[in-house]
Amino acid sequence: MTGQASKAAYAKAQQVLVGGVNSPVRAFRAVGGTPYFAARGEGPYLYDIDGNRYIDYLMSWGPLIWGHAHPDIVQAVTETATKGTSFGVPTELETEMAETICRFVPSVEKVRMVNSGTEATMSAIRLARAATGRQYIVKFVGCYHGHADSFLVKAGSGVAALGLPDSPGVPQTTAERTLTVPYNDEVALRALFAERGSEIAAVIVEPVAGNMGCVRPRPGYLEAVRNIANEHGALLIFDEVITGFRLGLGGAQERFGVKADLTTFGKVIGAGLPVGAYGGRRDLMQMIAPEGPVYQGGTLSGNPLAMAAGLTSLRMLEEAAKRGIYEQMEAYGKRLVDTFCDLGKKYGIPTTGDAIGGMFGLFFHEGPVVDFATASASNQSLYARFFHGMLAEGVAFAPAQLESGFMSCVHGESEIEQTIAAMERVMASLSQG
Ligand SMILES: *Cc1c(COP(=O)(O)O)cnc(C)c1O
Repeated sequence: MTGQASKAAYAKAQQVLVGGVNSPVRAFRAVGGTPYFAARGEGPYLYDIDGNRYIDYLMSWGPLIWGHAHPDIVQAVTETATKGTSFGVPTELETEMAETICRFVPSVEKVRMVNSGTEATMSAIRLARAATGRQYIVKFVGCYHGHADSFLVKAGSGVAALGLPDSPGVPQTTAERTLTVPYNDEVALRALFAERGSEIAAVIVEPVAGNMGCVRPRPGYLEAVRNIANEHGALLIFDEVITGFRLGLGGAQERFGVKADLTTFGKVIGAGLPVGAYGGRRDLMQMIAPEGPVYQGGTLSGNPLAMAAGLTSLRMLEEAAKRGIYEQMEAYGKRLVDTFCDLGKKYGIPTTGDAIGGMFGLFFHEGPVVDFATASASNQSLYARFFHGMLAEGVAFAPAQLESGFMSCVHGESEIEQTIAAMERVMASLSQG
C-alpha cells in the first residue's frame, strides 16, 4: 500500500500537474492505486517519501544501468556542473561521447546528440524521408518510438492497415503515412512491401521489443527485415533507445549481427540525464544540417552534464563487460523469469517470460509471447495484483504489464534472492483467488 506521505503528495500534485505526473504511465492507471513518490535512490534501491525501501527493477524505465546515484556518475555530474551547465558552443565531451558510440556500434559512423529518445526517432525518420524521397514509414504493432505524431499510430489488424491515430491531435494525413504490421511476422512485412515498397522510406523497429513487455525477435527475423528493406530501397532504423548498451556494448546490432542504416539511442547513454542520439551511415548523416539540408537542432543538445554522466556510465560498462556484467544481468533476469514460471506451474497460474541482456519480462499468459496480440493477452488484473503484492514486499516492477523489467549492474545475489522469496509469497497469495 502506498504510504500516507505519497498519497498526500499525489493529491497535491494533481492540483497543478496533469494527472499529478509528467508522463502518463507514472500515474499507475494500469495497476490502480496511487504512485509512490521517490525521495532518493541508492544502488539497486529506491526509497520513497514514506521511508519504504524497494528493490528497483523500474530503474527510471531503463536509463539507470548503474543503479541510483552511482558515486562515479554523481561525481562526474557535480564536477562538470561547477564549470557551467550549458554553453551553446561545442564542448570536447560531445566529441568523446560520439566517438564512444561509433566505436561500439560499427554501423554508426556519425552521430547527432539530442535530448530524448522521441527527438532521436523523430529526426531519424525525417532524415530517412529526405534521403529516399519517399513518405511512408513502417512500424510494428506494439513497438514504441516516443510520442512524435508519426509514431502514435496503432495497427488495424492485418497487413498494410492504414494508420489510424492513437491520439486526438495527430493529423490524419500524418498517421496515414505510418504503416503497421505485427512484430515478428516476416510474411506480413513481405506482403506490405510487395504492395507499397516503392513508397516506403524506412522500417523502424525495436530489435528487442521493450514496450510490450520484453519480446525478442524470432531467429532470423531481423535479418529478414534487413533483407526486405534492402530489396525495396528502404532504410532500416533500429530504435535502440532501450537496447543500446543494455543488451551488450554493441546493443542489438552486435547481439544479432544485423546492421541498421540509422540507429536511435537514449536512456542508458544518458545515465539518468535527459539524452537521446541518432546516428548511422556517414552518407546519410551528412544530409543533416549544417553538412546538408535536413534541419534539426537543439538549445541543450549535447548538454555537458548529460555527456559527463553518459560517458562515465559507458566507460564503466566497457570495463565491467570484460568481467561479464551483461552475462550476469541476463543470468539474474533468467532466474527471476524461471522462478516466476515455476511458481506459475506450481499454483496453476498461466505464466511466461524472457530475459535478454539487462532486460526481462514477466507475462501472465500461457503461450509464447511473440507480438503485441500475444503480449496483450496477458492477464492485466493478475499483473496488477502481482505488482501491488511485490510492492508491499519491497520490490518495485513497472506499474504496467506491457513494459520491460530492467536489471542493473548493481543488482546482486542478495537482491535477487530477496526478490525470489517475495515472489514465492506473492504468487502463493495470488493462487488463493
Ligand atoms: C523510451 C523510448 C523512446 C522514447 O524516449 P523518450 O526519451 O521517452 O522520448 C523511444 N523508443 C524506445 C524504444 C523507447 O523505449
